[in-house]
This record gives sequence, structure tokens and C-alpha cells, in this order.
Amino acid sequence: MALKVTYADGTVRDVTDPQEQLEIYRHSTSHLMAAAVNGLFPGTHLGIGPAISDGFFYDFEREESFREEDLARIEEKMRELVNADLKYEPSIISKEEAIDYFTKQGENLKVELIQEKAGQTLSCYRLGDLVDFCTGPHVYSTGRIHPKSFHVSSLAGSYWKGDEHNQRMQRIYGTAFLTPEELKLHLTRLEEAKKRDHRKLGRELDLFSISEEAGPGLIFWHPRGTRVRIVIEDFLRQELYRRGYEMVTTPHVAKNTLWKTSGHYEYYRENMYVFNIEDEEFVIKPMNCPGHIQIYKSRMRSYRDLPLRFAEFGTVYRYEKSGVLHGMMRVRGFTQDDAHLFCTRDQVYDEITALLELVLFILKSFGFEEYQVELSVRDESKKEKYAGSEEDWAMAEGALVRAMQARGMEWKRMEGEAVFYGPKIDVKLIDAIGRPWQLSTVQFDFTLPKRFDLGYIGPDGHQHQPVMLHRALLGSVERFMGVLIEHYAGAFPIWLAPVQAVVIPIAERHQEYGKQVLEKLQGAGLRAGLDDRNEKMGFKIREAQTQKVPYMLVVGDKEVEAGQVSVRNRFQGDEGAQPLEAFIKRTRELIDARAARP
Ligand SMILES: [Zn+2]
Ligand SMILES: [Zn+2]
Repeated sequence: MALKVTYADGTVRDVTDPQEQLEIYRHSTSHLMAAAVNGLFPGTHLGIGPAISDGFFYDFEREESFREEDLARIEEKMRELVNADLKYEPSIISKEEAIDYFTKQGENLKVELIQEKAGQTLSCYRLGDLVDFCTGPHVYSTGRIHPKSFHVSSLAGSYWKGDEHNQRMQRIYGTAFLTPEELKLHLTRLEEAKKRDHRKLGRELDLFSISEEAGPGLIFWHPRGTRVRIVIEDFLRQELYRRGYEMVTTPHVAKNTLWKTSGHYEYYRENMYVFNIEDEEFVIKPMNCPGHIQIYKSRMRSYRDLPLRFAEFGTVYRYEKSGVLHGMMRVRGFTQDDAHLFCTRDQVYDEITALLELVLFILKSFGFEEYQVELSVRDESKKEKYAGSEEDWAMAEGALVRAMQARGMEWKRMEGEAVFYGPKIDVKLIDAIGRPWQLSTVQFDFTLPKRFDLGYIGPDGHQHQPVMLHRALLGSVERFMGVLIEHYAGAFPIWLAPVQAVVIPIAERHQEYGKQVLEKLQGAGLRAGLDDRNEKMGFKIREAQTQKVPYMLVVGDKEVEAGQVSVRNRFQGDEGAQPLEAFIKRTRELIDARAARP
């Protein structure tokens, strides 16, 4: 369906491109919200209101705070304005005129923005009583916005122009979709995301915490979270050894000289934690690469040594603004499942092919069916901005593309998105509710081998420079854990579950047998527990259920007598009584298969 749109010069056109429609629609809805706020709360000053990835926001300046219950009123007022079918009327006025007008209105923030603008004229538009300046375009009239297609969702604090030294603003978030059905789908998804929030589940399942006393963005892994983490790390280590990687361990701190050679001191300084000891400056590592390079450089390398694949669960610390930190997803300290590959040019293609196999294997193993791939390449019009020769870029891109083709992968080419030191592939997984998350990265580096003067002796007896690749599969263990929690809504597949089975004796006289069952489970290598508290069976089952334990093994008179266990699983409930040995055998099979259920 076409959307009737008015442009700044007054022309009216039908827009048919869905993406363009959505942007104009959201942008117009954000003005609609501003108009509603203006009508309901006289004296409120307007900041800015852009469209964002799943909606829009508007920043307001107002003495009093908006309250949660205001949001519904604003939404109602927006519907009124929709019914009034007000036109978005554009006009072009001179800068002087505009400054004059907004000064009279007391809209000093707008005046500030206008003064910063180049050009002698600017485009304004009128919506009912509200005049704002904006290049648009906007929908023709508010009647073009479906009254059930938007939602005013939340409040947040912000600063004028995002700068904490400026005055405080109040931000109102909203969302809009072209149809009420799409909005409904989005809201259901948000509701679902809230239930799966890893911060909430992390607390309920006792997996991790963040301590105010220790500071923001630092994760404390509790025993249960650590159990999961160890399974993940062990699994990965085993797969890496199988594929010819070597695990290494490098220090968390190094003199600034290392970071000066690597270039991080110059280009990454604002994100690094730097401190002095005995008049020498040290850096807490924000990256593992320079460390792995030290190991490469520790001896003479020949072409026969290559490829070298150094992997590390490397914990790094990076300064991030406290405002952007988010649970385990965005933190200041995290552990990368990092590796650096050093190889000859002839080996590049095989290395990439093997890497992609590993990426897909990891995705599948952790239960992710869908993914997206992006290939970031340089901006062809600004070649001088990039390190590496023409030949380097052609070789690297060629290898990435051919390897993806060989694996039957589809990808999106991101022109100009490459960092200056080489092209890369990013793999994003799609979780259970359709959200993409950055997972693996394969990144060429044309600068570090030069900066650290890396070499190897070729078959010709001469010194050559190796090709260097950075790669992470999970990215950061913290964020991956966060994604896993949300993807499975806390119900980890049995191979990852912190507790795989809990034994529940019905009465006190069954506790001795319960203990024997526990020992057998543990003897078989299962992570098992025994709930021997003096509580009702129903209560214990409910609690195990809330803890999302895959299996509950209930034991009473009958079970003791027959040497059996009554099995309940968290998804289907009662499975009936069975011999313990049979249960153990089947569970081991599910674990080995890394099955998602039960
Ligand atoms: Zn606008
Ligand atoms: Zn690296």
C-alpha cells in the first residue's frame, strides 16, 4: 500500500518502498507525540525526536517529571489528533525569521539548533498548534497514521545532545508500525523478551550478579553460572585441540611499551585502564592480540611451523560509559574466546574454510538454527585510508568470499564497513524470539604483523611476513551466557544445565535411598542434587521446576522397593518409574547428543 507523503517543498507523493514508508511513518508519529505532549503539558520545551531501530523517542525539557501514568494519556491524546486528521504543513522560512519565532515561543533549545545550522533558510512544518523545524518528509496528515499502530512505551532520563554536562532532558520512547498487526507482534515479542531477561533470570536461577560495591560492568559468576561456563569452555577447548589449535595463557597486565607498539596506546587509549608502578606505566589488557604475538615472536619461525593457531579464554577490561552497560551483554570486564592465526598466504583459504566449519558447528551445538553473515569490505573510493596493499585486500576478500561460497552460506556485503586494518566476517545468531546477536568474527589484520615485525623463514630461505587473523567464536563468554539464558528462557539444554537432575525423597524414610541414587548419578558424571529438606513433595517439585532442572527423580516406598526412580521432566511432566540405570544411560545419551530437550 502506498503512503501519502509531504516533502519540505510542499510536493505530495506516494511512497511505496516499505523501509522508506516505515521511517517516515515513525518519524511522523514522533512529531505526533510531541504535539500531544505539547497539548497536554503546556510549557514543555522540545528537544529532538529521531526514529530509532524499533520506534522513536523525543527528548523534552520540563520542570516536573513525567510519570508512568502520563504515557497512556499521551497515547490517548495522539489518537485524538489522528482523528482530527491534521495536516503536516511544510514551509520554508529564513533563519532570522525562525530564530525570532522560536525565541518568542521560549524554545531556546530549538534556537540553539537553528543557530548551529548552516544555510540561510530552513524548513519548518506545522502540526495543529505546534510548529517545529524539520526537513521531513512527513505523512500527509495525522489521519494517515493508524490509531492502533503506535504505542508510547517508556520514560528515561537523558541529556541535551547526549552530553552529561548539558541540562537534563526527559526522554519518552514510543514505537510505531505500519499496521496494528505488526505492532501487536512487536509488543508480544517485547513481553516475551522481558520474561527472558537474563538479568532477571540470572538472579532467579542464581547464576551471576553485579555488585555495586565492586563497580558497574563487572560480572560475578556464582557457582551455578560457573558450572555452565566451565561446560562451555571445556567443550570449546576440546573442539579447538581437535582442530589443531594450541591454548595459551598471557598476563593481564603489560608495560605501556607493548601497547605503544601495537598502536592501542595511541588509538584506543580512552578505553584502557592505565596505572603507574615504580614510575613505570602499565596497562590492563583490553585485547589479547599483543600477548599472542609475544609468543609467536619468542622464537624463530619457519614456514614448517605454520599455520600457528593460539587460542585463549582471555579476560580483558575496557572502559565503557556507565550509561551503556547492560547486564552481561555490555560490560567492562569480559572473557573473549579469542584466537589468533598466523599463516602463509597459501594457507589463508584453508584456514578460513576450517574456521567457517567451526562457526557453523558451534551455532548448531548450542541450538541456534538461524544466522546472518555480514562481510565488511573497504570503501573503494577512500582506499588511502586503509592499511595493507591492494593485493592484501584482494587476497583476503577473495578467500572470505570463496570460503563462504564453499560452505553454501549467504551473506550481506557491507561496503565501507571494514576497519582500516582489514576485511572481516561477522556472524550473527538469531535467537528463539527472532533477535540477532553478534556471535563470531573473523578479522584480517594487515598492520600488527608489520608493527611487531613478525616473520618466518620461507622455503626460499628468505624472511616473509605471516598473514594474521583475529577470530572469536562466541565473542565474549559473558555476553554469550546472556544470550543463552534469554534464548532458552533459563531452561538450558541438559548438557549445559547447572543441575541436570535433582533427587526428591517423599518422606524422611526415603532419604537414605535418595542419597544412594545421588551418589550413583554423580558417579556417572551427572551434575545432580538431593533435596532432603523437610518440605512437601509438591513444594520441592515446584521449586525444581522454577529452577528449570531438566529431571526430577522422585523416590518413595515403591521406588525404594524396586530400586527405581520416578522420573519427571521439566517440559512434559511425569514419565513414570524406571530403573535408575536406564535413566542414567538415556540421560548420558541426551548429554552426548547435546539435545535441547528435555
Ligand atoms: Zn520531522
Ligand atoms: Zn586480536
